[in-house]
Amino acid sequence: MKQFSEISDIRKEIKALKSTGQSIAFVPTMGALHEGHLSLIRTAREHADEVVVSIYVNPEQFGPNEDFEDYPRQMEDDLKACEEEGVALVFTPNDEIMYGSGEKYFAINIEELNEHMDGASRPGFFEGIVLVVNKLFNIIEPDIAVFGQKDIQQFLILSQMVKEFNHDIELIAAPIARANDGLALSSRNAYLSDQERKIAPGLYRALQYVEKQIRGGVMEPKLLLNHQQDELEAKGFKNDYLNVFSMETMQPVQELEEGKQYILAGAVYLGKTRLIDNIILDL
Ligand code: AMP
Repeated sequence: MKQFSEISDIRKEIKALKSTGQSIAFVPTMGALHEGHLSLIRTAREHADEVVVSIYVNPEQFGPNEDFEDYPRQMEDDLKACEEEGVALVFTPNDEIMYGSGEKYFAINIEELNEHMDGASRPGFFEGIVLVVNKLFNIIEPDIAVFGQKDIQQFLILSQMVKEFNHDIELIAAPIARANDGLALSSRNAYLSDQERKIAPGLYRALQYVEKQIRGGVMEPKLLLNHQQDELEAKGFKNDYLNVFSMETMQPVQELEEGKQYILAGAVYLGKTRLIDNIILDL
């Protein structure tokens, strides 16, 4: 496995791989790798000859009051994990390499797709992601890129980006990796106290309960969702959102229809930790 921080170096390696006819699958990450990231790497390996991983905590996707400074960083462990998974190249740029002096004349603007869910709670978040993934796609030029269903809004926005900007890259969504008690794995779970960690799976349980009711025929789930939010508050969570969204527009949906796909998604705070989770509903 080779590690590069400079764009010109990684480009040279990628060119060499491609010249021998190898296909490349790319897994962008912010590091602090866990089993969820590793499952993405394994999915990537199934779809291409070589896997490239990037590890970069992108400042552009953090709001001024978010956890950029505290975000877990563990490069040595991450590199070891990548090596064990048979990753060919790891790209580890710094801010200077990604953004130069910071001078900017262009800006990303997203319409509608970021109005709700995480886009509503985290202004500038998806613009920052689209910016960095666009840059990474131009640097790595992979055949395939793998993202987690855990960040479903990210996946759908990036799918639209690929379409509108004509990136010749196939995006694949990998299922959500969970702990034994159902909690979706996340680098941010490291922030949870022992007590918070115990109640954290409650978000997934609430989503599962709502899913069951919807599959049992509840097609107007508003009251049900409100009730689950009350239950979550009673357990010690602070609600951000819990709702059913359209798979195409990511707008909230009041009345569900059979034959359509929806995202049942929730975000909560436990102390200072923000947790997200979702279930795809194929009705
Ligand atoms: P991050 O390092 O948190 O930016 O995540 C990098 C990639 O890993 C994204 O595509 C995430 O959606 C994905 N990911 C994060 N957590 C999980 C998980 N529990 N299961 C599957 N994929 C995940």
